[in-house]
Amino acid sequence: MAQSERESGHENLLTNQWASVRAKLQQEVGDVEYRTWLKQVSLAGQDGDELTLMLPTRFLRDWVSKEYGSLITSIWQSENASVRRVDIRTQPARGTAPNLAEPASNPVAPARPEARADVIAPLDQRFTFDTFVVGKPNEFAYACARRVAEAPATQGFNPLFLYGGVGLGKTHLMHAIAWELSNAPLQGPAKGKPVSVAYMSAEKFMYRFINALRNQSTLEFKNELRSVDVLMIDDLQFLIGKDNTQEEFFHTFNALVDAGKQIVISADKSPSDLSGLEDRLRTRLGCGMVADLHATTFELRISILEAKALRAGVDVPAKVMEFLAHKITSNVRELEGALNRLVAHANLFDRQITLETAHEVLHDVLKAFDRRVTIQEIQKKVAEHWNIKISEMSSARRSRNVARPRQVAMYLAKQLTSKSLPDIGRHFGDRDHTTVMHAVSRVTALMGTDAAFAEDVELLRRMLES
Ligand code: ADP
Ligand code: MG
Repeated sequence: MAQSERESGHENLLTNQWASVRAKLQQEVGDVEYRTWLKQVSLAGQDGDELTLMLPTRFLRDWVSKEYGSLITSIWQSENASVRRVDIRTQPARGTAPNLAEPASNPVAPARPEARADVIAPLDQRFTFDTFVVGKPNEFAYACARRVAEAPATQGFNPLFLYGGVGLGKTHLMHAIAWELSNAPLQGPAKGKPVSVAYMSAEKFMYRFINALRNQSTLEFKNELRSVDVLMIDDLQFLIGKDNTQEEFFHTFNALVDAGKQIVISADKSPSDLSGLEDRLRTRLGCGMVADLHATTFELRISILEAKALRAGVDVPAKVMEFLAHKITSNVRELEGALNRLVAHANLFDRQITLETAHEVLHDVLKAFDRRVTIQEIQKKVAEHWNIKISEMSSARRSRNVARPRQVAMYLAKQLTSKSLPDIGRHFGDRDHTTVMHAVSRVTALMGTDAAFAEDVELLRRMLES
């Protein structure tokens, strides 16, 4: 037999064996687990007594080698006696030479075992209602959260669905509800009994569910979840595409609501925008109270900085806070991070916090923000949104249907870039800096009075920031 024929024969044999190994694996672990963890495993080849399998991410690789490494090896050995070792690796990125792939982890003892995922997440001490700063963008969500904490499972507030972009306070509000509730005894028929609250990320929910499947303890898992008074699931968008977990969540959800328990959910989008979630789940999620955490305003950012500085007991000049609030507009987490860095730096070098040190210490952070969005991108998005030509951004026309979008684009340029007013004016047909200033105050005022307009502007901001 010619060498190449022998090789392709061997390859065929191996492919057949792999198909049969997969079938056995599926039989062994069940459909759900198989689909969640093992479906993406692919065969790379055999080299001597070593067989190599591939997974697309390091996380999956670690998980699969830890949880299924020995099972896979023994099934392979029963299929093909020449296999001694099964190596599970991550796929080299497309276009990268295979020898640049990450070194494989030892299939018997993977690098770092995942933290056990079967405990309900602990609550962050800092995330209470006391430390949550309320302003226009979050006052509605805050009020809803307060209400649920005072009177869980009230009609119209169940489920409470909180949504908004990254770092705007969803998790903070959920923990605040949980703290409040776990300190307060129940009212109503079960009066006096402490409230049991289960808070976890959707990701953790899935791990727990999968673990329960593996340990054949799904019944306990269900009973445990269904025995709580309040169930909170954070970052629900994680369940998109995880059909079995979604299914299980849906049943738990229904059982709890039917039993008069409170559910609190957070996600990065509203229920109707969470495409990829099952329709019936989306419908149920939207039928309680849906509250949006809007992007922060300058005023809110200043209040947050003041509150944090006060709490930390450091003296931060107003000018520095204004500087931060102007520059870091995307989310509160980053704003906090910048403040912490300033404080740490001041402590370390025993120096006052000044505008100069702020510039110096945050140089790289701010540069990263500047790179995020350009005036051209803003103009393009805004023009598309109101269906006008991008050239109108620089034109002299003053009719309302082009002047208003132009003002919005100037406003967003001021909010999202670090360009100066004259600089912004130059991008808009060489307009004067006072025109830009006027646009900014006009848009700000209008956002305060016209909710639909405010929503448009926030939407644009979010699209530009993502
Ligand atoms: P999300 O869950 O929406 O991504 P988090 O709740 O984790 O955001 O908030 C990110 C960080 O910002 C947290 O440290 C949180 O305490 C802080 N934060 C967000 N909003 C506020 C607020 N209104 N007042 C005080 N801190 C806030
Ligand atoms: Mg969060």
